[in-house]
Amino acid sequence: MLAASPNPRRPPCLVVGGGFSGLSAALLLSRAGFPVEVVEGSSELGGLAGRVEFRGIACDLGSHRLHPAGLRAPVLAELAEEGMFLRRPRRGRLLLRGHAVPYPPRLLPLARALGPRRALATAAHLALRGVHPKWEAEENDGPEDVGFEEFVRRRVGPAAYEAFYRPYAEKVWGLPPDQLSQSVAKKRVSTSNPLRALQGGEFAYPRGGISELIQTLADKLRARGVVLRTDCAVEPGGHKGPVLWSGPLDGLVPTELEHRGLTLVFLAIPLSRVSSVDTWYAPEERFWFGRVSELGNFSPALRRVGETVLCVEIPQGGARPGLQYTGDRLPELVAQLATAGILPGGVHPIAAEQLFLPRVYPLYPRGWRAVWTDAMERVAQGGDVFPFGRQGLFLHCNLDHCAVIAAQLVDHLERGGTAAAWAGGADRFLGLRVRD
Ligand SMILES: Cc1cc2nc3c(=O)[nH]c(=O)nc-3n(C[C@H](O)[C@H](O)[C@H](O)COP(=O)(O)OP(=O)(O)OC[C@H]3O[C@@H](n4cnc5c(N)ncnc54)[C@H](O)[C@@H]3O)c2cc1C
Repeated sequence: MLAASPNPRRPPCLVVGGGFSGLSAALLLSRAGFPVEVVEGSSELGGLAGRVEFRGIACDLGSHRLHPAGLRAPVLAELAEEGMFLRRPRRGRLLLRGHAVPYPPRLLPLARALGPRRALATAAHLALRGVHPKWEAEENDGPEDVGFEEFVRRRVGPAAYEAFYRPYAEKVWGLPPDQLSQSVAKKRVSTSNPLRALQGGEFAYPRGGISELIQTLADKLRARGVVLRTDCAVEPGGHKGPVLWSGPLDGLVPTELEHRGLTLVFLAIPLSRVSSVDTWYAPEERFWFGRVSELGNFSPALRRVGETVLCVEIPQGGARPGLQYTGDRLPELVAQLATAGILPGGVHPIAAEQLFLPRVYPLYPRGWRAVWTDAMERVAQGGDVFPFGRQGLFLHCNLDHCAVIAAQLVDHLERGGTAAAWAGGADRFLGLRVRD
C-alpha cells in the first residue's frame, strides 16, 4: 500500500505506547491524514497483547480470545474481513468443589458441583430476585457504592457468592471483597444475567496467536510510512501537537490508583496434548492459579511435535510479586495441576519459564471513582495530552474496547476536539464490561 500523504492542516501526533490501542489509533490517524509517530518504551511492540517466545512458540501473555461481537469494532472488523481469525468452539472448564464444570457453565453440571443445598438456595434466590436484564444498570456507579460483596450477594445469593465469587475476588485482588468497589463485579464478574453465561458459543482467535494482531497492524503502519520506535520511553511534555497517551495514567498525573499484577508460568509438557480444554478457571483458594490455558487448543500454529505448552496464570492478589514458581515451588505447582485434573499424574514439565506482568488488573477499592475523577480533572488541565487505552484511562477492558476508544479519540481529533473535552468525557468508558 502507498504511504499516505499527510494533510498539511492536520497537526503531527505522537502516539505513546505501541500496544493494541496505540497501533490502532496510529493507523486510524494516519488514514485521516495526520502525520503520526509511535513510541514504545519496551523493546517490543504489543504491550499486554504482546508475546513471549517459549519453546519456539509465540505464547500470548495469558489466555486471550476475542468475543465474536468484538469483531464488529473498528480495526478488528477490518482484520476479520481479511480472514485473520479462526473460529473456535469454547471449551472451558470451571473447577468447583472437585468438579470440572463446562464453561460457559451448563445448568446440570453446575448444580452438581454446587451441591444440592447450594444449588437450590441459588435457584431460589434467582427466582425471587428475578433475572433482570438491567441488573447492572440499576445502582450504576451512583453516589452509593455498596461494595463487591454486597453487590454480588444481592444478585446471585450467598451460596454462589461463597462458592465462586468471593474466593475469585480474593485471589485476584488480595483485598477483603467488602473493601472492593461494586465496579469490580460489574467489570469483571458477569452478574448481569446469569442465563447469558449459560450460552456456549465460540470465540475468534488469530491463527498465529494474539500478537499476530500487533504484527499485522505494525506492518500496515510501516507500509504507510509511519515510524514505530521501540526502546523509547517518553514523558508527556515536549511534543508540539497532540500526544495520544496509552501509557499509565500515573505517568501523566500522580494518583493513588494502583494495579495488581499477574505471574505467568509457561510449562512445556511432554505430551502432544494434555486435553481438549482451552482454558481452566480455578477460583478456589487451594490453587495458586486462577486460570490455565493450553495454547495448542487455541490454534494449531501454537503446537509443537511431541510437546504442548500450558500457560499458568497466578494472580498477584495478596502474594508478593517476586515469588518464583519455576524453582522450589515447581513440584507443588505441578501437584496442584494434577489435583485439579489439568495434568495427568506423574507427568512433569520438561521446561518452565516465568514472567511477571506488573500492571494487569486495575484495583478498584470503594471510593476509587472520586480519585479517578480528580486525576482526569488534572489531566484535563495538562495541555495537549489525550489519555486512552487500558492504562491511560485506568480501565479493565477488552481489545475491542481498546479499538472503539482509539476510533473515538481519532474522531475527536478530526473534529478539532480539545484534550480538556476528551478527559472531561472519558467517564463514559468506565461502564465497559469485560467479556471473558
Ligand atoms: C492475562 C490477560 C488476558 C486478557 N484476555 C483478553 C481477552 O481474552 N480478550 C480481550 O479482548 N482482551 C483481553 N485482555 C486485555 C487486552 O490484552 C488489553 O485490553 C489490551 O492489550 C490493552 O492494550 P493497550 O494498548 O490499551 O495497553 P497496553 O497493552 O498496556 O499497552 C501500553 C503500552 O504503552 C507502553 N508504554 C507505557 N509507558 C510508556 C512511555 N512512557 N513511553 C512509551 N511507551 C510506554 C507500554 O510498554 C505498553 O506497550 C487480556 C489481558 C491480560 C493481561
